[in-house]
Amino acid sequence: MSGDTRRPEALIDAAHGCDFLVHEVFVHRAMSVVPGVREAATIEAAASCHTAIEEVGPIAAAARAGALLLTHIVPPAADPAMLVAEVGRAFAGPVIVGEDLLPVDIATGLVAWHGLTARQPGLHRHG
Ligand SMILES: [Zn+2]
Repeated sequence: MSGDTRRPEALIDAAHGCDFLVHEVFVHRAMSVVPGVREAATIEAAASCHTAIEEVGPIAAAARAGALLLTHIVPPAADPAMLVAEVGRAFAGPVIVGEDLLPVDIATGLVAWHGLTARQPGLHRHG
């Protein structure tokens, strides 16, 4: 599981072959300057300590993760379909777009979402 980070080579090594990689994602092009609220320098500072979406799929692929859960999504309003499509270019496994209070049972591979429960096959490869 990543926290705020640039492309984390040590995490890729530590996560190698993991069932489930939880990773933050930063969508630079979705961060616009809002005068008086968010300046360009603020955006660049945030970009400097987060992982760009272009890198997240390759990181998950390099780690040979069974599944990928995106968390700490910046900006939070980023389109979930876009996130899945973009990381899916490099990562072939299941991708889950995280949200607050999303329960994921690592042991069973069950993900509950809005009253529905699904099993992520990538979370249960060894069963
Ligand atoms: Zn952060």
